[in-house]
Amino acid sequence: MALLSNKRILVTGIANNRSIAYGIAQSLHREGAELAFTYHTDKLKLRVQNLSKNFDSDIVLPCDVSEDSCIDKLFVELNKKWSTFDGFVHAIAFAPTDQLTGDYVDTVTREGFTLSHTISSYSFVGIAKACRNMLTNSASLVTLTYLGAMRATPYYNVMGLAKASLEANTRYMANAMGPKGIRVNAISCGPVRTLASSGIKNFKKMLLCYQRQSPIRRNISIEEIGNVAVFLFSDLSSGITGEIIYVDGGFNIASNIDDVEQSM
Ligand code: NAD
Repeated sequence: MALLSNKRILVTGIANNRSIAYGIAQSLHREGAELAFTYHTDKLKLRVQNLSKNFDSDIVLPCDVSEDSCIDKLFVELNKKWSTFDGFVHAIAFAPTDQLTGDYVDTVTREGFTLSHTISSYSFVGIAKACRNMLTNSASLVTLTYLGAMRATPYYNVMGLAKASLEANTRYMANAMGPKGIRVNAISCGPVRTLASSGIKNFKKMLLCYQRQSPIRRNISIEEIGNVAVFLFSDLSSGITGEIIYVDGGFNIASNIDDVEQSM
């Protein structure tokens, strides 16, 4: 039997078919979940509508998470289709491109700091707050984070701080929502070439570094991230909440110096 039959899951963050949210949607759909989608701007509306057809969904709603009124409206509209649902994927992040290059201390600004935290971290709890009453008693919420939350990573800069905030947010949300049976977890994934990651300076080098130094000696795919999301939305993970689960080929646990030796 499919792992997610009878589950209704809202997927945010699809910009195109290379988005991590798209890979997650593919896996959730394969396991029988009924899906609804959000899109950020009018420019993305038609594209997300077209992509949603791959998942037999006709629920595609606007949501710019920088506006509380937009988040609230999303659930007024979703409520017309689903009175309750079983969780959501939060695959949203943003920092101005000028913040993702150069020396952290030189480039960070109050405005860049505030914006990246609001969009990339606050929005996770902001969405949960707005739909709390629509979530079932075994709902699961999943967000996407990166190792830059734990380690100072060149050029990731203020986004690393926003991800650290998002990971703390995951734990606080898990603790607050756990008594109702709602679980909240984050997937910390290795680098994937997407629209968002193309804004990070030297991203190609990051991919190469993971390919050479991860225990599995390759980069991970959006399908592999999607499969872990299936686990987190399924009842198989019913005892797990507040966790950061790495899908990075083991990069975060290893310290392989072969690459350095070869260049000496
Ligand atoms: P992507 O560009 O495909 O997705 C990012 C999404 O965020 C887009 O759909 C965009 O429309 C949305 N977004 C930005 N601002 C928004 C706003 N104000 N309101 C609503 N939506 C908004 O890139 P992706 O890499 O698939 O990113 C998805 C998540 O995965 C992000 O949280 C990202 O930080 C995280 N992540 C990505 C990587 C990677 O290497 N690509 C690694 C680790 C974590």
